[in-house]
Amino acid sequence: MTHAIRIHEYGGPEVMKWEEVVVAAPGPGEVLLKQTAVGLNYIDVYVRTGAYPQPALPFTPGMEGAGEILAVGAGVDDLKSGDRVAYAGPVGSYAEDRLIAADRIVKIPDTIPDQTAAAMMLQGMTVRYLFRKTFDVKPDTTMLFHAAAGGVGLIACQWAKHIGATLIGTAGTDEKCELAKAYGATHMINYNTEDFVARVKELTDGKGCDVVYDSIGQSTCLGSLDCLKPFGLFVTFGAASGPITDFDVKLLAGKGSLYMTRPTLFTYIAQRSDLLETAGDLIHVVESGAVKLNINQTYDLKDAVTAHRDLEARKTTGSTVLLTG
Ligand code: NDP
Repeated sequence: MTHAIRIHEYGGPEVMKWEEVVVAAPGPGEVLLKQTAVGLNYIDVYVRTGAYPQPALPFTPGMEGAGEILAVGAGVDDLKSGDRVAYAGPVGSYAEDRLIAADRIVKIPDTIPDQTAAAMMLQGMTVRYLFRKTFDVKPDTTMLFHAAAGGVGLIACQWAKHIGATLIGTAGTDEKCELAKAYGATHMINYNTEDFVARVKELTDGKGCDVVYDSIGQSTCLGSLDCLKPFGLFVTFGAASGPITDFDVKLLAGKGSLYMTRPTLFTYIAQRSDLLETAGDLIHVVESGAVKLNINQTYDLKDAVTAHRDLEARKTTGSTVLLTG
C-alpha cells in the first residue's frame, strides 16, 4: 500500500485528499518509480480547479517528480531498477509511487540531488524552450519577463544573464524585485506600485523590447503588447491572473505588426529526441553552476493543500518541492 493526493472534484486547495492507493506492476513500456521529491508548479492550480480538465475523476495531480526506479515493464531496455530519474509530465506526480511511460523519463547525474531534479524539470525546461526555441535569445536581446521572482522567473533571470541578454523583470513586491536582481535580472519593476509600460519605455529609451514573456495573462496582456518594438514577439505562456478572453487580433497590427504565440512545454518535448535535447541543455547549465535552483519552500507531500494556498496567495518565491518523507 502506498499514498497519493487524490482529487474527486475540481475546486479550491481543499479538494486535494491524502489517500491510500494501490499501484500496479509496470506494464509494457512503463516504469514504476519511488519518488522522493515532487515539484510544485502553477499549472497544478489550473489542473486542480478544472481550468485544464482531466480525462476522468478521481485523479492524482502534479506533473513533476524525481526518485528511483523500482521496476521496469516489458520492452524497457535503456532503464533499470535503481536508476535515479526525473520527469515533467504527464499528470500524476503527487504520489509516493507512480507508474509512468519510460519515454518520459530522464536519467539524472549524481551531481544533481533529487530535490533539485524535482524542482528543475518543468520550470527549467520551460525556460530552455522559451529562450532557445520560441525566440532565439542572444546577447543583444532585450526582453520583458513577468513574475521574475517565481519558479520559472528565477531560472529565467539566471539563464538570461548566462546568455548575456537584457532581462527587464516584474514582480509584486520590492523584496521579490531585490531577489530577482540578485539572481541576474538587469532591471526590476514592482508592477503593483509602478506603471510597468512607462518604466519599460524609459529603460529601453523608448524603443521597447524584442520579446515579452507573459505568464500572468489577463491583468498584464494589453500592457505587455505596449512594451514591444515593431515586429516584436508576444509570448503568452500562462494565466496566473486569469485567462485572456475576447482578444482582438487587430491590436497586433495597431501596435506594430506584432507576432503572438501561446506555447506549451509539452509540444516542445513531445518527441523523445526533443525531451532529451531540452533536458540535456538544462542539466548542463545546472551542473556548470550557471543556473541554481532556488528551493525556497518545501512541504510534506501530504500538506499539498497548504502549498497550493501559499502559491496562489503569491507567498512563494523561486521553486517549491513537496517531499514524500
Ligand atoms: P510562480 O512561482 O511564478 O508563481 C506565480 C506568480 O505569478 C506569483 O508568485 C505571482 O508573482 C504572479 N502572479 C501575478 N498575478 C497573480 C495572481 N492574480 N495570482 C497568483 N499569482 C499571480 O509559478 P511557476 O513558476 O510555476 O509558473 C509561472 C507561470 O508560468 C505560470 O503562469 C505557469 O502556468 C506558467 N508556465 C507555463 C508553461 C508553458 O509551457 N506554457 C510551463 C511552466 C509554467 P508576483 O507576486 O511577483 O506577481
